[in-house]
Amino acid sequence: MFKIIMIKYGELTTKKANRKFFIETLTRNIERVLENYSVKITKDRVRMYIEFNERDLNGVLASLKKVFGLHGIVVATRVNNNIDDIKMCVLDSIKNLNANTFKVETKRADKSFPIQSMEFNNVIGGLILKNTNLKVDVHNPDLTVHIEIRPEGTFVYTNEIRGIGGYPVGIQGKGLLMLSGGIDSPVAGYLALKRGVDLECLYFDSPPHTSQEAKNKVIDLANIINEYSGHIKVNVVPFTKIQEEIYKNVPDSYIITIMRRMMYRIATKVCQKNKLKVIINGESIGQVASQTLTSMIAINSVTNMPVIRPVACMDKLEIIDIAKQINTYETSILPYEDCCTIFLPKHPVINPEVEKCIKYEKSFDFESLIDEAINNIEVIKDLNTKSNDEFSELL
Ligand code: ATP
Ligand code: MG
Repeated sequence: MFKIIMIKYGELTTKKANRKFFIETLTRNIERVLENYSVKITKDRVRMYIEFNERDLNGVLASLKKVFGLHGIVVATRVNNNIDDIKMCVLDSIKNLNANTFKVETKRADKSFPIQSMEFNNVIGGLILKNTNLKVDVHNPDLTVHIEIRPEGTFVYTNEIRGIGGYPVGIQGKGLLMLSGGIDSPVAGYLALKRGVDLECLYFDSPPHTSQEAKNKVIDLANIINEYSGHIKVNVVPFTKIQEEIYKNVPDSYIITIMRRMMYRIATKVCQKNKLKVIINGESIGQVASQTLTSMIAINSVTNMPVIRPVACMDKLEIIDIAKQINTYETSILPYEDCCTIFLPKHPVINPEVEKCIKYEKSFDFESLIDEAINNIEVIKDLNTKSNDEFSELL
């Protein structure tokens, strides 16, 4: 008789064709978050089991709560498929619990076990009635005693922790998250990760108009969402020259539209170069002038890549709720400037025309500026270390 964590895959068990790949990816992701613990992981098509040191239980559970694709986490007691052992285990499992009513739910996946589920519910129910003061309530019990009789053993538990759901990160390949220091884009990244899309980030940096603090903030945000991935790196694009050229050559009202077309062009090239399948950003319909549907047409028309906007249809308050849940909010609201805000015109166009964008873009050689920017991307891989600049200041 020993404690074991049992993982329920939930949604992904329904994806029959890909099940093996799903489970392999999920296992790798779980191994990653538990790499600092001594655990033993075994799995089959419907369940995964994690043996652990009892002193690590809280840490292991906290880590598992950040793994997408994991729908139920159960700390069970495992016994052999033997009626007396199961009875002893049930009485032991409920002895210190605070409850007045109970029901028993048996799942007999091992058909060689001699007693059927319904009948076994009665056997165990009778045992509990005889040995405790608990009363039966099948509709709304304080306590449900789960007994799963599987070929590999019997698992007794009274509590199931909800996992965060979604799909294992990586099963959809990788996308490119346009990550600014704001509230929306980290949430967009989190939601993409939840659907199994792993990420690289792209940050447009405009020194000296934007500061090292603004860049560090973006790296901090990448660090927070990297807890759900472990593979995220940040591509920092030197965007100053492009922004200055736009500012010099483009009428005020079109500055933001053209700037965002440049961002999409760069994002597209980075996707091609790094074999990324989709662009993801934090645009939300109507939030600002560049996020009207007409603006999206003008901006989106420079790319053939699919663009996913996970927060497009959310209210700002809904986005903020998620940002708070995932711990990005407090960092996002730190007051550092973004390249989108430094050259903000008084009256940005709300309904930009593609023809005008093309005309204004002819006034400077943006293609070579884009190539130059891409060639000078700084890649930040090891997200948990401070950036070099900051480090040298400390020396
Ligand atoms: P956020 O809260 O994410 O900053 P926002 O409401 O401030 O979004 P915008 O500044 O208009 O909106 O930007 C819309 C989206 O464009 C952002 O969510 C982000 O995906 C992308 N973006 C904006 N600025 C940058 C930047 N400097 N680097 C990378 N992506 C950016
Ligand atoms: Mg922003």
